Amino acid sequence: MTHHYTVLHGGTILTFDGALPTDAASRASGEPGVDDAAGRRATAICFAHERILAVGGDAEILALAGPDSHVVDLRGRAVLPGFVEPHAHPYWEGFVAGMRLLAGRERRAALKALPGGAERLEPDAWLVARYDPTGWDRPDDPTRDDLDRAVPDRPVLLAHVSGHAVTANSLALALAGIGPETPDVPGRSAIERDGTGEPTGILRGPDAWDRVASAMPAPTAADGHAALARAAARLAADGVTSVADADLGSTAGLAAELAAWGEAIASGAMPLAVSLMPGLVRIAPAPGDAVPSPPDIAADLPDAARARVRLTHVKLKADGALTTHTAWLRAPYEDAPHAGGPVHDPSALAERIRGATAAGWAVATHAIGDAAVIAVLDAYAAAAATATAVAPDPAHPHRVEHAMLLDGDLIARLAASGATAVVQPEFLAWAGATYRARLGEVRAAQLLPFAALLAAGISMPFSSDRPVVPGAPLDGVRAALRHDSGLSVAEALHAWTAAGAAALGDDDAGRLDVGRRSDLVILSRDPTVVPTRAWARGDDGIAVVATIAGGHLVAGRLEGLA
Ligand SMILES: [Zn+2]
Repeated sequence: MTHHYTVLHGGTILTFDGALPTDAASRASGEPGVDDAAGRRATAICFAHERILAVGGDAEILALAGPDSHVVDLRGRAVLPGFVEPHAHPYWEGFVAGMRLLAGRERRAALKALPGGAERLEPDAWLVARYDPTGWDRPDDPTRDDLDRAVPDRPVLLAHVSGHAVTANSLALALAGIGPETPDVPGRSAIERDGTGEPTGILRGPDAWDRVASAMPAPTAADGHAALARAAARLAADGVTSVADADLGSTAGLAAELAAWGEAIASGAMPLAVSLMPGLVRIAPAPGDAVPSPPDIAADLPDAARARVRLTHVKLKADGALTTHTAWLRAPYEDAPHAGGPVHDPSALAERIRGATAAGWAVATHAIGDAAVIAVLDAYAAAAATATAVAPDPAHPHRVEHAMLLDGDLIARLAASGATAVVQPEFLAWAGATYRARLGEVRAAQLLPFAALLAAGISMPFSSDRPVVPGAPLDGVRAALRHDSGLSVAEALHAWTAAGAAALGDDDAGRLDVGRRSDLVILSRDPTVVPTRAWARGDDGIAVVATIAGGHLVAGRLEGLA
């Protein structure tokens, strides 16, 4: 009985088996054959359907092949565990994939491209697009006047690429019922106003999108399915085999998005391993509200999808983004007369976290500024200290999303908390100049000290937050190595594989050894033999050749493999 075995031989298999997050710790572990954070090497691997059957030398593994097996000569290419993406927004990525992104160098030219996005729309349909001002000559957010000039005859909603601000034109503001009398919701959505009290069209805060988008026709079930199918294809092409939606409900509402995920998984349109992180304020709007448990949320998934979805963390936001001046800092911005602020006051933050843990969730809280990271660590400690506290499952520690601005004391506090820091190296390549403008050189130099986080013993998976940035893990490796010369290629790859699987509590992913899921990415050659400086320059020459999820080829091509 050898049929349906697949044997890949003649390459380098980076198993990550026996590895720890740093090269030094991996070597010191005394595991035989483990010299760095990529773990034991092999030259061949055999899997059948969803499970890995054997990893080892060519002769030993080829001996397992029978007449019905697929046998593939890797010809020196490398096999790694499929990349794990523990913080992304796949529904949003698929939803905006066909829409305009107004970017580039000239603000005026970027806004000129907006009307072109309406070419194929029905006469009254909303025009939705994104903008990224980080490269603009004049980085001011667009206003309603800018949008009215460009598109006067239909509602327009333009989302900042970070997701933490939007601009609406006059028609969209009117449809959303936003006028001079409309109040702000402190911490959640601030309506910018001109000298006369008229809204400028710009809204900032975590609910800015919802506040306007609620007036838009809801995406249909077919729209949701198409969005997730598009996202799956893009993720797979980048070598990703596990993905977490880090704010379920943030685009089209929880029920619509949960239904779309269920349908896409059941139909095979989403063939990757999936973790869903419901937005806590969506499943329990007020701080004291009863929080639905993971089984309560799972009950709304079709049977065929339920067993394939991990539900371990809820998502919460403590602050905003540096690019939109909404991250919460201890000291004011370099280029604005304020320091941002919290989304929730401290007692509400702790109360929400306590309620979520009591319902069986761990919590993943967005905190970018140093003040926000302190508030989140305080809230995790306060929630754990209450009389009715329930300790989170040790397999699913709480997470701090982004954790960008950290000094030595804060790194020590983060390490002592046991929380996982889910960080995004590609942010630095994308918005580094904007961060320096916001923070000044001294504070900007403290952003995302990867090697220091690892040295402190903090679990630090990489992620991208895509589609905030394009999000290919190999680009994340490049950005990380350019930013922090203390990091090695093996450590960066560990952060995209084994560390991400640990953050998701997914024992079946992140390492290649017997019994784990057949989730693999095939790269053009061994990435760990390419010098760090070539990666940092971006001339490493490493590319994704093929991606295999659950034993199925989901992207790319490999001769001999169906
Ligand atoms: Zn995010």
